[in-house]
Amino acid sequence: MKLIDGKMISGMIKDEVKEQVEKLKQQGKEVTLAVILVGNDPASSVYVGNKKKACEYTGIRSESYELPEDTTQEKLLALVEELNGRDDVNGILVQLPLPAHIDEKTVIDTISPDKDVDCFHPQSVGRMCIGEKGFLPCTPAGIIELLKRSDVEITGKHCVIIGRSNIVGKPMAMLMLRENATVTICHSKTKDLKEVCKSADILIVAIGKPKMIDSSYVKEGAVVIDVGIHRLEGKKLCGDVDFEDVKEVAGAITPVPGGVGPMTIAMLMKNCVSGVR
Ligand code: NDP
Repeated sequence: MKLIDGKMISGMIKDEVKEQVEKLKQQGKEVTLAVILVGNDPASSVYVGNKKKACEYTGIRSESYELPEDTTQEKLLALVEELNGRDDVNGILVQLPLPAHIDEKTVIDTISPDKDVDCFHPQSVGRMCIGEKGFLPCTPAGIIELLKRSDVEITGKHCVIIGRSNIVGKPMAMLMLRENATVTICHSKTKDLKEVCKSADILIVAIGKPKMIDSSYVKEGAVVIDVGIHRLEGKKLCGDVDFEDVKEVAGAITPVPGGVGPMTIAMLMKNCVSGVR
């Protein structure tokens, strides 16, 4: 069994971004990411803090807007519009979830597709689907990097994805298709989930259920990518896959923590640099 090391691979990507940022600086171009956080959700604050740290490491300038919980939608949209219009801002990230009185879709739709480093805008998603140049969604694109840099052959392989969310499952399927995999998407209404999963050469799990996938879902030698993140009692993290059990049959597997998680931020940094013209 091979351990797919997301910590190491994300470190490589951040180092590559750092080099690109330095080169751009020599050309007089600074890379800037604007991060907007509304309210004080503790998990969101941690995510935003990690993004700021990655910016510091790579040399990307981060501009942080921490707005109170009762910020109106109009005020938030006005800030996004202002950032859209600033030539010195390359990426805009609005940390989700937003407070209930703000409509997430309206906010996402207001971000300029040219600065949409999360790749959530319908135009960004459309570009990705038809294979046009543009930002790629961070978690799924990070998984492609994990596979490629771990020498996993994708072309012609059967890839089963469990989960069809707009953030992970659906874009993951599009990117695997781009890489010439034969793709099956499963969800809560899928019949014979176990049998479908057992036919996978590459199994990507994004269900949001701690340790649901055990070795009975996995073909001998399959590559297993675990997107799930859950905090167990005692603060230990686990994924959607029962790692200890599945590692006995998998050919390669990502751990949690240290697998997909660190790739998401690394790919965000990569998107910020690719947004510089
Ligand atoms: P969602 O809750 O949006 O989607 C879960 C998907 O799993 C749905 O499509 C759902 O089906 C499907 N599902 C749920 N239960 C079952 C079941 N019993 N059998 C088959 N399918 C099922 O989650 P996300 O996609 O946003 O996230 C998934 C996991 O990944 C979470 O643990 C999340 O924390 C983690 N995550 C990690 C990231 C990272 O950076 N590593 C980034 C984003 C997410 P249906 O559509 O029918 O309801």
